[in-house]
Amino acid sequence: SLSEKLQGVFKNLRSKGRLTEDDVKAAMREVKRALLEADVNFKVVKTFIKSVQERAVGQDVLSGLNPGQMVIKIVKEEMEALMGSTMTEIQLRPGNEITIILMAGLQGAGKTTTCAKLAGQYKKKGKRPLLVACDVYRPAAIKQLQVNGEKVGVPVFTMGDKQNPVDIAKASVEHAQKNGNNIVILDTAGRLHIDENMMTELIEIKDKVDVFQSILVVDAMTGQDAVNVAKEFNEKVGIDGVIITKMDGDTRGGAALSIRSVTGKPILYVGMGEKLEDLQQFYPDRMTSRILGMGDVLSLIEKAEQTINEEDALRMTEKMKKSEFDFNDFLDQMDQMKKMGGLSNLLSMIPGIGNKMQGLDIDDGMMDKTAAIIYSMTKEERANPKIINASRKRRIAAGAGVPLAEVNRLCKQVQNQKQMMKQMSGMFGGKGGKRGGF
Ligand code: GDP
Ligand code: MG
Repeated sequence: SLSEKLQGVFKNLRSKGRLTEDDVKAAMREVKRALLEADVNFKVVKTFIKSVQERAVGQDVLSGLNPGQMVIKIVKEEMEALMGSTMTEIQLRPGNEITIILMAGLQGAGKTTTCAKLAGQYKKKGKRPLLVACDVYRPAAIKQLQVNGEKVGVPVFTMGDKQNPVDIAKASVEHAQKNGNNIVILDTAGRLHIDENMMTELIEIKDKVDVFQSILVVDAMTGQDAVNVAKEFNEKVGIDGVIITKMDGDTRGGAALSIRSVTGKPILYVGMGEKLEDLQQFYPDRMTSRILGMGDVLSLIEKAEQTINEEDALRMTEKMKKSEFDFNDFLDQMDQMKKMGGLSNLLSMIPGIGNKMQGLDIDDGMMDKTAAIIYSMTKEERANPKIINASRKRRIAAGAGVPLAEVNRLCKQVQNQKQMMKQMSGMFGGKGGKRGGF
């Protein structure tokens, strides 16, 4: 399986003390082969390998990890990004407005089963779903939906197999309005292969009823085909997301890794079995862990990530004890703030402040200006603000293209910070108390 193969590659890497560019390249060749064998789209593999390689070579290794584990960390992050990084929900209309969800896909993909699974989940969440039998071509399909609907306790709207699907869909919406259903799930017909009739029918349904979400159901076992189907449906009918079924089987994982980047549409759920409770929301990070299949290494990586934050904090504490604060620390602070989403975001999260700040001119452009001033300083000036005299200030202001007053303001600010550090370190008692008082 893919995860076994990748683990083999990483095992070799792990035993290395140091990683050379050749090591990374050799490992990536193996990863590439494993991904292609798992039926991941060729173009996706190519870009993936390229971005991992670029990041891995010349990367600083986090403390607590060896170089091989560092590569695994990068592979993990790139895989998550490939699948969209975060979980995506099916969009619903607000309040009690009716959300119409069209389910499409090839025959046998798992549409009917998935419709019932989804309806069951909505019911559990307190919604009032209605299942609609729009597959009139296979007589057994209506019965199948009725049986499944009953199992999850959701009503099924049918008009037999003599009406056309567009009329059934229209009538079902009226039915939903009368009966207080707020989610209408249309179970449509599939064919063995993509054909014009199927596409035309779906487009017509979308045209005649107010479909809010079009969801494609694909079978993970079909690998590359699932990806091609998704691409074609998206181009011809337009889809909002994909559900991948039969992920419980011995699938090669290729569909899950490729669909997002080939279609630009998110994977919403995965089917994990034939039973009606076997439908799970799709989390790129969990899927990555499953594909990489190595809980031990992944938790090690998490620990290492925590450690860098702690090291940052520790460094700051040390500085505080020595009452040092210079422009390099200033840059560090701004960097951390940026990571947290910028100054305005940070302020808006503080209760009571967010609103009051709206009228004020606090923007992240200010942070950029500050950085520009600091970058105009020499190394010595940054590390030792004391030496910045009047003529240096004029030079810095000219270099950064700001008025002299702004440089004065910043110099004052760094002095204040230093003063504050001094007072705080006094509070912590100077030496002793290893972690200071963060
Ligand atoms: P449709 O033709 O697209 O409506 O597909 P069906 O819903 O009738 O499903 C086809 C077959 O796939 C049925 O036997 C289902 O039980 C099975 N199936 C659907 N989803 C899953 C899944 O997530 N895992 C497994 N193992 N089987 C599934
Ligand atoms: Mg069906």
